[in-house]
Amino acid sequence: MAAQGSPQASRPSDARSAEAWARAHERLVETLRELIRIPSVNPPDPPGPELDAARAIAARLEASGVPATVYEPVPGRGSVVARLRGDGTGGDPLLLLSHLDVVPAPPDRWTHDPFAGDVEDGYLYGRGAVDMKDLVAMELEVVRGLAERAAAAGLDPALHPIPGLRRDILFAVTADEEAGGHAGIGWIVEHHPEHLRAAGAINESGGVSLEVGGVRLYPIQVAEKGYCVYRIAIRGTWGHGSMPRPDNAAVLAAEAIRRLSVPGPARLTPVMARFFEAAAEALPGDAATLLRAMAGGDAGRAEAAIDQRCAPVYARAARALVRDTISPNVIHAGVKYNVIPGEAVIELDCRHLPGTDEPAIRADIEARLGPELLAACRIELVTTAPPVVADHESPLYEILAQAIRDHDPDGVPLPVMAPFATDAKHLLRLGVPAYGFSPLRLEATETYLDRYHGVDERVSLEGLRWGLPVLWDAVLRFCG
Ligand SMILES: [Zn+2]
Repeated sequence: MAAQGSPQASRPSDARSAEAWARAHERLVETLRELIRIPSVNPPDPPGPELDAARAIAARLEASGVPATVYEPVPGRGSVVARLRGDGTGGDPLLLLSHLDVVPAPPDRWTHDPFAGDVEDGYLYGRGAVDMKDLVAMELEVVRGLAERAAAAGLDPALHPIPGLRRDILFAVTADEEAGGHAGIGWIVEHHPEHLRAAGAINESGGVSLEVGGVRLYPIQVAEKGYCVYRIAIRGTWGHGSMPRPDNAAVLAAEAIRRLSVPGPARLTPVMARFFEAAAEALPGDAATLLRAMAGGDAGRAEAAIDQRCAPVYARAARALVRDTISPNVIHAGVKYNVIPGEAVIELDCRHLPGTDEPAIRADIEARLGPELLAACRIELVTTAPPVVADHESPLYEILAQAIRDHDPDGVPLPVMAPFATDAKHLLRLGVPAYGFSPLRLEATETYLDRYHGVDERVSLEGLRWGLPVLWDAVLRFCG
């Protein structure tokens, strides 16, 4: 393992001229703008734009001589896959994975049309700018750059191994990630797993700089929480609104929600222990003391201090990453103002840490409700998926971390867990470890996590300019 802050002597990206990188950046930005202008919203209404996006990506691959296959398992919903061949001496392939769908973007509070791809003051605005058409475009540019290098050497990337590649590179951009992936990666896992079977995958949401106490941290996602969604039907008694009753189902639902939304106890997983330790080593004074308290298992007390010191979104993330969480996000009760509702329905979004499973979450819900309230409840599991953990000391992780250090010698890469789910859940079924790595160096004031699914989602053009060679180096080191 190389020491922090020690750039390696030669970076694969140095073999390309500054002009070649400038052209690659221009094309990356143009691709990203084109993709943002395709409103591949999930849920699709009506289906179509996800297929348009898949076809646009396929067309760009083919323009560089890379054969691409578009799958359309559901009408109007497309995913695209491709492969660059190595000489086969380096082991199993590397998978470059991303998704082309985005969440809806009600435009009222945006300062730019979310589907116009406007550029202003060094930022490219639009739904998908960071989640995650940016990495789609970056991975696409890496594949095109390699294919064009082969073509320049007189080779056909459709037929010949790419010079310098010892492993194959698999490229997959999927539909439907934002709604569980069943019409995207889930379908590919079932019907064409050969497009995904790899030694490891580079996936979304990691490798983005986060400045704390003057130090740039680059959390690389190696794990993600699991989820369980429950629907709870609560039985009360119907009646006339003029004579209130304690078993009004809305009243029972309110009490259930109060009990369920009290934060549970903190528990530190190995990845988050490593995250807090590594951050403490890098940070000065008070901040380090605080993080050591988190790493030392005193997370419950330390997080109150973090709340006061951190941007709210990071404090919320820190709290969510050291405990199983329950968020009641849907409540339905009542039919008319003067009718006491005899039934209410609530839906819970529960996210569990590695080491907790679905039966344990259900048991916690039942214990929180208590026997009396529980007797009025019928709990139904809507959907669940397990937590995902990749090895944060693997050769691939080390290569990702080193690529960051090579391009930002003062930056500190460190492993982290995501509170949310990605397509990595589906890769778990094939035993492919996934690493969240969409390298971006951002200004200290840019609270990147707030852009996710948020208003004025945007990505810094300088961040992309920095990130593309970082990704290039990581891919070539692992596959070369
Ligand atoms: Zn995403």
